[in-house]
Amino acid sequence: MSKGRIIKVSGPLVVATGLADANMADVVRVGEQRLIGEILNMTGDSAFIQVYEETSGLGPGAEVETTGVPMAVELGPGLISTIYDGIQRPLEEIMKIAGSTITRGIEVPSLNREKKWEFTPVAKEGDSIIGGDILGTVQEGPVVLHKIMVPPNVSGTLVSIKQGAFTVTDTIAELKTAGGEIKELTMIQRWPVRVGRPYKQKFPPSQPLSSGQRIIDTLFPIAKGGTAAVPGPFGSGKTVVQHQLAKWSDVDVVIYIGCGERGNEMTDVLREFPELTDPRTGESLMNRTVMIANTSDMPVAAREASIYTGITIAEYFRDMGYAVAVIADSTSRWAEALREMSGRLEEMPGEEGYPAYLGTRLAQFYERAGIVACMGTEERQGSLTAIGAVSPPGGDISEPVSQGTMRIVKVFWGLDASLAYRRHFPAINWLSSYSLYLDTLKPWYDQNLGKEYFQNREKALRILQEEATLNEIVQLVGKDSLSPEDQLTLETAKMIREDFLQQNAFVEIDSYSSYDRQAKLMHLILKYDSLVRAALVQCTDLQSYFCIASRERIGRAKGVPEAEYEKVYSEIEEWMEKEIDAIVEEGGRNND
Ligand code: ADP
Repeated sequence: MSKGRIIKVSGPLVVATGLADANMADVVRVGEQRLIGEILNMTGDSAFIQVYEETSGLGPGAEVETTGVPMAVELGPGLISTIYDGIQRPLEEIMKIAGSTITRGIEVPSLNREKKWEFTPVAKEGDSIIGGDILGTVQEGPVVLHKIMVPPNVSGTLVSIKQGAFTVTDTIAELKTAGGEIKELTMIQRWPVRVGRPYKQKFPPSQPLSSGQRIIDTLFPIAKGGTAAVPGPFGSGKTVVQHQLAKWSDVDVVIYIGCGERGNEMTDVLREFPELTDPRTGESLMNRTVMIANTSDMPVAAREASIYTGITIAEYFRDMGYAVAVIADSTSRWAEALREMSGRLEEMPGEEGYPAYLGTRLAQFYERAGIVACMGTEERQGSLTAIGAVSPPGGDISEPVSQGTMRIVKVFWGLDASLAYRRHFPAINWLSSYSLYLDTLKPWYDQNLGKEYFQNREKALRILQEEATLNEIVQLVGKDSLSPEDQLTLETAKMIREDFLQQNAFVEIDSYSSYDRQAKLMHLILKYDSLVRAALVQCTDLQSYFCIASRERIGRAKGVPEAEYEKVYSEIEEWMEKEIDAIVEEGGRNND
């Protein structure tokens, strides 16, 4: 620990001298109020410090004290359902002490020190244990079984282990290291946020993350352990997509990072989540969620940190062998914070004023996603899926953050202002979006959902692409000049768009769609297409096919209650066959 003095303050950046033995990335306490900061850069004995709290009132001469440790998060029971700020301060606890605005320099531990958790040991005295091994478990809320692990880089023989109710700082076990030293273990671990937590091995993803969103699951799926970006202009539905993923993804734990977005959006999440039930557990969604809330009225530097805080907490749950999703809204706000700090550091600016290392930083975030073999003796796998929204100014994705993100992520759900304007939601553009996981996921889909699923996916996409081409012709010469087959293609494309892709997040029955339901709905639409196409050979009266009652019933099929959809969908299919047969027969009679 050493002490220095401030020589310059520029917004969130503070320069101090006399800190020769400090290290880069060390946490420092700045000024009388002991504001929390982090050393970004050292030149000689001057340190460039990013301060995570308002710096007004600070001036040259004020004292700066290093803590000798890097920015780290506390990991242990108590994380789930908590709302933190960007540097892991529990917002509710702070509010209890200081009211609605965060008092500067306030010190509240990230994990509650008084609360007792019922610890059930798994390991036994005499066990030889290594980092990552599970000492025991704590039931954290109704959903998450929190596995208490030996911290990475710790190993030895267990000399004692307790059972009962303990706080996170109570000793629950003692370990004798190879050197003969006795080490006390608690339920809390600290980990520096800018360093990825270790794992044994990373695997290529092989399973999709089920999101219940039809356009995502069927057309552009993301793998568990994969990466995705949701770019889109203001109002195109990024936040709604992110919320839907946070709500419906089939993962064990969700880390939601609200990074610098408008305060009221975060309030929406905070109000909505506790009331929503997780379809898999029947419990409140908050019981599997950790929130990092960084609204735009909080200091810019804390936004920069929030992404690392979030992903480190996610890695911790991944290490327990869970499927975890990190959802960051929005990475553009984070990049703006990076740009502001870089400007104040007077670094050489890159494109549009962003620092030249923007791409590297984005990569460092996304590359912490993946499926891993967790540390420890026992074989277990965990996955971390990272999904980031990008909000390019004016929706122009040629800007550096979108481009930098697209170079890294494997799934791109491009939101389109014109679709949102037409109230086609989710406004994911089916022509510009893509998923690079199709080849890796195909075996899973074929095996679990049948080969028809992917075949229909390809067919549907082809029809949508043909629609785009046909629309150009229609604009030139009108719809009537198209062949009946092409007119049918336009009609089917319309059904795919309106009856399948459009999905209302705010209608309970439509908000989530299971794979089976998606498959059956797509099957109905494409069956309609193939029946009419075959019938066209005998009777070309398009309008009568377009007007049949079952065509309209398909349009209403997504609103059919969950308990009835299987029955209703197969009824529609039967009807449809009969109705189309009838038209063909009728047409045949008229021709006679
Ligand atoms: P952004 O975050 O891109 O600025 P939002 O996510 O706030 O945009 O979405 C803007 C509005 O679009 C929402 O308030 C909602 O009315 C509408 N919207 C977006 N997605 C959907 C959806 N899936 N279903 C229904 N409405 C939607």
